[in-house]
Order: sequence, then C-alpha cells, then structure tokens
Amino acid sequence: MKKTNQDISSFTNTKQNKTVPVDLIKDQQILAAALSDVSMALNSSLNLDEVLDRILENLTKVVPNKTSNIMLLDGQLARIVRSKGYDLLGTKDILMSRVFDTDQIPNFQKMIKSRQPVLIYNPHLDQDWHILPESEWIKSHIGAPILSDETVIGFLNCDSDVEGYYEKSQLSAIQLFADHAGLAIRNARLYDASTNLSKKLRLINDLTHQVLEAKTLNEILGLLPEKLIELLQAANVYISKWDEETKTASGWATSGERKREYLSAVSKPGDRTITEGILEARHATLVADITESSVMDSKFYELYREKTILGLPLIAEGIKFGAILIGFNNPDQVTEDIISLGEYTALQISTAIAKSYSLEQERNQSSQLAHANALIETLSRVSSTIKSGVNTKNVMTTIGTELELLKIHSLVALKVGSTDTLSLAYSSVQSTIIPFVEKFGGNKINDLHTSIDALPIIKDLIETQKAKFLENPEELLKQITPPVFVPLLWKLMDALELTRTAKCILVPLVAEKQSIGILSLWGESLQIIDIQAAAIFGGQVAIAIENANLLQEVQRLAVTDELTNVLNRRGFDEVANREFEISKRYARPLSMIMLDIDHFKATNDTYGHSVGDEILKEIAFRCRTKIRETDFISRHGGEEFLILLIEQKRENARLVAERIRKYIADQPFVTTSGKIKVTVSLGVCSLDSQTTSISMMVKKVDKALYVSKENGRNRVTLINNK
Ligand code: GH3
Ligand code: MG
Ligand code: MG
Repeated sequence: MKKTNQDISSFTNTKQNKTVPVDLIKDQQILAAALSDVSMALNSSLNLDEVLDRILENLTKVVPNKTSNIMLLDGQLARIVRSKGYDLLGTKDILMSRVFDTDQIPNFQKMIKSRQPVLIYNPHLDQDWHILPESEWIKSHIGAPILSDETVIGFLNCDSDVEGYYEKSQLSAIQLFADHAGLAIRNARLYDASTNLSKKLRLINDLTHQVLEAKTLNEILGLLPEKLIELLQAANVYISKWDEETKTASGWATSGERKREYLSAVSKPGDRTITEGILEARHATLVADITESSVMDSKFYELYREKTILGLPLIAEGIKFGAILIGFNNPDQVTEDIISLGEYTALQISTAIAKSYSLEQERNQSSQLAHANALIETLSRVSSTIKSGVNTKNVMTTIGTELELLKIHSLVALKVGSTDTLSLAYSSVQSTIIPFVEKFGGNKINDLHTSIDALPIIKDLIETQKAKFLENPEELLKQITPPVFVPLLWKLMDALELTRTAKCILVPLVAEKQSIGILSLWGESLQIIDIQAAAIFGGQVAIAIENANLLQEVQRLAVTDELTNVLNRRGFDEVANREFEISKRYARPLSMIMLDIDHFKATNDTYGHSVGDEILKEIAFRCRTKIRETDFISRHGGEEFLILLIEQKRENARLVAERIRKYIADQPFVTTSGKIKVTVSLGVCSLDSQTTSISMMVKKVDKALYVSKENGRNRVTLINNK
C-alpha cells in the first residue's frame, strides 16, 4: 500500500511560499501562460460558464491528462461541472450525473481538510482512492482543491492511464492553477449573484410599478401571488388580510389550489393565526414546519399545501394590512437571500397597498358624499310633499315610502299629548312589525306605549334634542325590547328588517323647541355623515307633523261645537249624510234621537245664561255616556241635540233615548248656582224605506219631539213609521 502525498510538505504552495523549485522552470512557463489566460478569462468574462470552460481548457496545458474535470461542492456533495475526455470513454453521462459524497471518499476528504493537492501514483494500490467501475482504467491521478475565501469550493482532477504518470513536481503547479481558478470562480459567482440580485430587483421594481398602477386593492391582490412565486421561487403564495378591530385574519388572495377554501377562511377572535404572529413580530419569519410549530391553530393547517412558510408582514403607515405567506416545499430553499428579498418586496407591496387603501378610502368618502346627497335629495322631495300633507298619517307614510327607496327603514314614535309616553305612530316596516307585536305580544299596535323614562337613550335624545348615530342598533333594541320579546329578539330583528351590520340614526322630532317624538332610521347604507341631513329632516318632519296636527285641529274645530265639544250642525250633516248613504245601500238600521231641554228659557232666566251653558255642557256629556263610541252626537240648535245611532233599530233607539231622559231627570245638575233639576223631551225615529234623505229623518224626529212636548215633556216619543 503506497501513500501518495506523505511528503506533501516538501512542495510549496503559493499561499505558503512564493518560491518555486528550480527544476520546474520549463513547466513554469507553461503554467504562467495558463495562469495569464485564466486571468484574462477572469477579466474578459464574468460569466461562470465561460470561466469554467477556460479553466478546464488551461488545466490540460498545465497538467497534461487523458481525462480531467472540475468538481464543485454543494455542502459535502461534489458534482462534476466540466469534464474533458470522458466522451471518448463513453462514461461522460454517468460521471456528469454522479453525486460524490465527500464524506465517503478519503481522497476528497483529505483535500478538504489539508487544502493541499493530492497525487495518487496508482489508484488501485491506494486506500484513499474510491474505485468506481467507470474509472477503473485510471492508473495515475493528480488533484487539487479549489479555494475561495479560504474555503474549499471544489476540485480539479486530472487522470492518466499510465501508471506513475504524475509526479510530485506537478503538485505546486496544479495548486497554483487551482488558486487562480478559485479566484476566477469566486468572482464569476459574485457577479452571477449580483446579476441575479439585480434581475430580482428589477422584478420587484416591475412588480411595485404594477402594484402602484393598479386601480384597486383587488387588482393588486390578483397580481401578487404569481409574481411572488416567480420572484422567490416559491411553491405557493397566500395573502391574508388582518382586521385590527376584531383581531381576525381572513384569506385575501392565493395561488394555491384550494383557493375557494383559503379565500373564505376567516379566523375567530382568540384564534392563533400565523398572520397575527407575523404582524406582532413585524419582520420576516420563517416557519420550517407549521405543523410542528405553534404559529397557528391546527385547524388552519389544511389551508396550506406546504409545511414551510415564510411569513412577511404587510404593514405601512401604521396600518396592519395582513401578511404574505410564502409556501416552500423544503425549508432549505429559503436562503437568507430569499428572506431579505421577500422582506424588501413585502415592504414595497405594503406601501403600495397603503396608497391604494387611502385612495379607496377617498373613493369611499366620495361615495359616502354621493350617498348623503341622495339622502338630502330625498329629504327635500319628502319635505315638499309633506308640506301639502293633509294629515299626520299621510306625512309619515310619505316619509317612509321615500326612505324605503334608499333602503332606509323608518319608524316614528310620538309623544302622547304632553305626557312622558311614546306611542308608535308609524313604521315603514309595519306590515311585518304589527303582526309580530300582535302575535307575540298580544297587544294591539295602538296600545304600544312606552314610558320615555324607561329608555335612557330616547330620554337623552328628547332632552338634548340632538340626533344620534348608532353603530350597533341591535344593542339599543336589546335595551328597549319589552321582556316578552327578548327571547324573540332575532325574530323581531327580522320583522324590523334590521340586519347585523345595519346602522341607525335616531332623530328627535322638535317643533317650536318642543320634542314631539322621535324618528328612527336604520339600514345598511346609513353612515355617520348622514346625521346632519337626518337632523334637518327631523326638524322638517316635526314641523310637518305639527302642521298636520294643527290642520286636523282646525278641521276638527270646523265641525265641532265650541261650547259642548260635540259635532256642530255642519259636522253632523257631513257624518249623517255619509252614514245615511251607507245604511241605505247596505240596508242597515239607522236611528235618530232629537233632544230639547224643557223650559230652558226659564232656567236661563232664573240662573243666568252661563249656568244655562253649564247645563248644556252637562247634557252633551250625559248623552255621550249613554251612546256607543261609533254613534254621533251634535248640537243642532240652541238647546237642541241630535244623536245618530249607527246600526240601531227603532226599539233599541227608544231604549237609549229613555236611558238618557232618565239619567238627566233623575240626577240634578251640579252647577255654580247649586243643584238644578233638568228634564228633557226626546223624539226618536228610524230609517225606513220611505226615508230618502237625512233631512227627512230630521223632520220626522222633530215631529216626534214635538209630540213629547205636547204630551207634557220629560218623555220619549217614538214616531210612527207612517
Ligand atoms: P220648551 O222647549 O220646553 O218649550 O221651553 P223652552 O224655554 O226651552 O223654549 P225654547 O226651546 O223656545 O227656548 C229656547 C231657549 O234656550 C231660549 C234661549 O234662552 C235658550 N238658549 C238657546 N241657546 C242658548 C245658549 O247657547 N245658552 C244658554 N244659556 N241658553 C240658550
Ligand atoms: Mg228649543
Ligand atoms: Mg226647550
């Protein structure tokens, strides 16, 4: 067994000593020429391929050989990157595809450890030589490590089929050459890396430009995954969106196959997500195996095809937008370069997203303005309509219908008189809300009164007379819902068409500085900006309601007797004619009573006119208590009253008249001049086939009354039909 390079210390390496043994002068010339060519190659080309070609070409000049090769190391694995002579032997393909594990081959190990060349006189007799079938022919070998920055990056190998062909004297030459080669390779690699980097920077630059030119966030997101895959040589890209308010992450964009699943994935508050972790870290984070780390809850594993994820935060201008999650098939692929490249790219994208985001916000603001304008337009249209509204109901219906066109639901609750009670007056969703209340509450909608004191928000609204925007009307509803409806809250929300994301504006209805009630508006499209328009609108609605109320009052006064508060003659004619027509058409019974105070002139004369007035009022009141809600009473003349009994036959009418007579006669009237006995005479008649008008009925009943007077007063006369 022969050791090859045991006296390796006897030759000189360029690194150790610049002196070269004297007997190598001739070879030195060849070596110098080869070195200068390699240097030239180094200067003329920074292309690694070309440099390798030149090295191999010149190696043969320095160290003649039958076959030679350049091997480069990748970790502990060596691969032949250039070879010469093997094609003639038919072994090129085998060798070029072979991977040499330097740990297993003593010859290579030795070169790596010693950083010195090796000479093998006869591989077949050398234990350092690893015999392969395709290199069995080799009888002599010389090799040198290629060094770059003091590290072995590969080997130069020369083989000969002549035993003892290589000599010790050639060791220094091959090493000197290998050193130059190392320098050339190093420079070419650096250049390669820098061109590679600049290529990538160009890609990033292109990407940033495209992103900045994108009109919407969606457009940006659409571009990103494929571009990032190309840039970072990744398997897949996942982009998640972060919601700082709810602390949840959701899928934003992805190249992955399970796109639909990823895009519809949303975390719940409290879930552990990789997005949150990366945003907290604020820098690139490499997770070699997501299933073996605690970066996310296991339920999220299936969203990612790869186990290795490089997470990059998307943060700009203090806003946490989300994260770019880059999937790799193998953690070894994620080099420092890839990480810093990724980080740089994420920074650019974040800036672009921030810009696009603020543009989108601007656009949103202008759409908000457009929306507010639409609202104002509707409001002014409503205002002009409600000015001509004849009654409160009409006013509210107009408001509701117009607002529904903007998908805004409304409700009006008005104060009952000057009490602290609110009563539901109108709602645009009353077709669903009324049946709901009646079904589950057992209430008639008109009975839905609520004390303002019980509703702090409403109380505050009415007191401050300032409109309020409610981000979450569901909360208010929970507060104001009567206990009976609480278990049915979601049904109530349905009935109100109140969605989870709807907003609400509460507007006090103020007329002449008085709060007369509230207007509630709710819907998805409502925004805080609408509050001003709604407040102005509220003022107009209040005035309209006031006006309508006044109008109703004026109209009521026109048909009401001022003293007794019953219908006046005009009012009576109106309703009596209407009722007469109805009864005639449907052949329904209708009766009439005429009442006249007995000897009233004398009463006036005795107690004075004002006491007479007191008696007139009391007469009207006592009549009212003896007739039904649907019947009508009117003051027909000075001290004469007419009563119209709806759906009452003559006999019934006579009984009513009798009850009135008795009530008046039996209970003296309490007046400012003391108790006074009063009696009345009454006539009764009913509708029959001969009666063709109300005035005919009045004439008939008058006749009946006359008979009562004739017969001694304080009595009822039912007129004969004939
Ligand atoms: P009787 O009907 O029983 O025949 O006798 P009478 O005294 O009531 O007679 P008559 O119906 O003719 O008199 C009507 C009186 O009613 C005359 C008038 O003094 C009185 N009167 C009419 N309108 C009013 C009124 O608004 N206030 C008061 N205090 N008295 C009125
Ligand atoms: Mg009279
Ligand atoms: Mg009289």
